[in-house]
Amino acid sequence: MILILTSNTQPGSADFQKLMNHLDALPGIKTRVHTERGDEQTLTELYLIGNTKALDLEDMQNLPCVERVVRVSQEYRILGRHKGDDRPSHFDYNGVRFGQDTFHVFAGLCAVDTPEHVEMMMKAVAAAGQVCTRMGAYKPRTSPYAFQGHGKACLPYVFELAGKYGIKVIAMEITHESHLHEISEALHQTGNPTGVMLQIGTRNTQNFELLKIVGRQTEMPVLLKRGFGITLDESLNAAEYLASEGNRNVIFALRGMKTNMGDPHRNLVDFAHVPVVKRLTRMPVCIDPSHSVGTRAAGPDGILDVMHATAQGVAAGANMVLVDFHPVPTKALVDGPQALLMPELSHFLEDVQIAREAYLKRVELAARYNQQ
Ligand code: PEP
Ligand code: MN
Repeated sequence: MILILTSNTQPGSADFQKLMNHLDALPGIKTRVHTERGDEQTLTELYLIGNTKALDLEDMQNLPCVERVVRVSQEYRILGRHKGDDRPSHFDYNGVRFGQDTFHVFAGLCAVDTPEHVEMMMKAVAAAGQVCTRMGAYKPRTSPYAFQGHGKACLPYVFELAGKYGIKVIAMEITHESHLHEISEALHQTGNPTGVMLQIGTRNTQNFELLKIVGRQTEMPVLLKRGFGITLDESLNAAEYLASEGNRNVIFALRGMKTNMGDPHRNLVDFAHVPVVKRLTRMPVCIDPSHSVGTRAAGPDGILDVMHATAQGVAAGANMVLVDFHPVPTKALVDGPQALLMPELSHFLEDVQIAREAYLKRVELAARYNQQ
């Protein structure tokens, strides 16, 4: 059960104390406080855990400071959609809004290799009117002998170049808690020229200790990749780990499932799950066509498979696209074969726009038919 308190409730106030004393006295119920500080107001929600079935909705509604009560189902308590639940499905980070109704493209390097390539990428992204990108500094690799990313050494120039080109948010995977601190420190040392969305990769979707640590910080939002060999429910529960620790600014990414049934693609594209995730949770949904498709192959229509897969996800309502580009894919240290070329960026963005418009038209059409 969630008690949504009236905005700007002060934790030191007598009413709040009265409420907490009442809740503390309830047998078998534990209370977790979640505070969300916005520019204009502070919102407080109390999560009641335990035998909440025994609690009467109306009684709870009448407690001091309580504005609204939501009875949650067992599943995805914080990030899930529940009956009568009108909590927001968006958040703002570094001036950019991410929600189930917004749309952003994060085109960039799978792995940072040289400052020149980072600059070429950021310049192209900015010239195309985009404010987000992807840049891998810490790379989880199958072989211990493969390039593992430049790590903390590349962060200062990546962040400074992002600032130079007006990039507001960089999606960047971390694989260890130390990376979180390295990123925070480098952002601080460079004067916060940009923002970082912490990415948890498919290989770490169920790294519960990492999820807990990342969830405990609320400075940066999190992009959680679906685990490539587990059920959707298991991956959504992984997202809930982040939220249960305090960070509910989570975007859920579909990136294909590992099975040779997807051959000759690298993974089996799972973008039909975009509306499923939006229905079950309030998380914005990202698609990663690069790691799903994994090749630069094109159909006889001249359209790359990566673009076809993107269009499928975007036409189904995806809110974010994470996509690999590289100025010289043959020189890329990671995933060169799936990277799109710089001259393809404007083609990609125009193609994506067609799919986004198709989605918005489809929503309108559905509204018309559903009214009848
Ligand atoms: C990536 O986005 O660079 C990546 C490694 O993705 P995934 O975790 O989906 O394989
Ligand atoms: Mn990659």
